[in-house]
Amino acid sequence: MSFAGTKEEVRKRGNEYRKKHKDHINKLGSVSAKKRNEKAKLQVIQHYSKGKNCCELCGFSNMDALSIDHISGGGRKHRKELKGQHIEHWLIRNNFPDGYRILCMNCQFRELKRRDLFNPINKIKFE
Ligand SMILES: [Zn+2]
Repeated sequence: MSFAGTKEEVRKRGNEYRKKHKDHINKLGSVSAKKRNEKAKLQVIQHYSKGKNCCELCGFSNMDALSIDHISGGGRKHRKELKGQHIEHWLIRNNFPDGYRILCMNCQFRELKRRDLFNPINKIKFE
């Protein structure tokens, strides 16, 4: 008497189920995390741009290119302290502290250059 066939079938079904289930769960997980992050980013951008939802310097309003700028610098040190945590969530939890503003990527680079923190040879040098 052998259950090999049955076992094989059960294993196959189990694998298929797990595979399906895993993809489903992963998809759900990443979608909700993405939505949470987007919602947090929007909240932060709305606050620091005073509801304008655009770059403070040039008015560029594509959300994907907008980022949070530390007005007095120190972004690298702060990012280290956050240990990979999204700054958006940190800002919300800390009741939107002063010292931040919304800039587009172009203006971020322009500002780095203006502050003499951008060196094209050594890539980006934060303070
Ligand atoms: Zn800009």
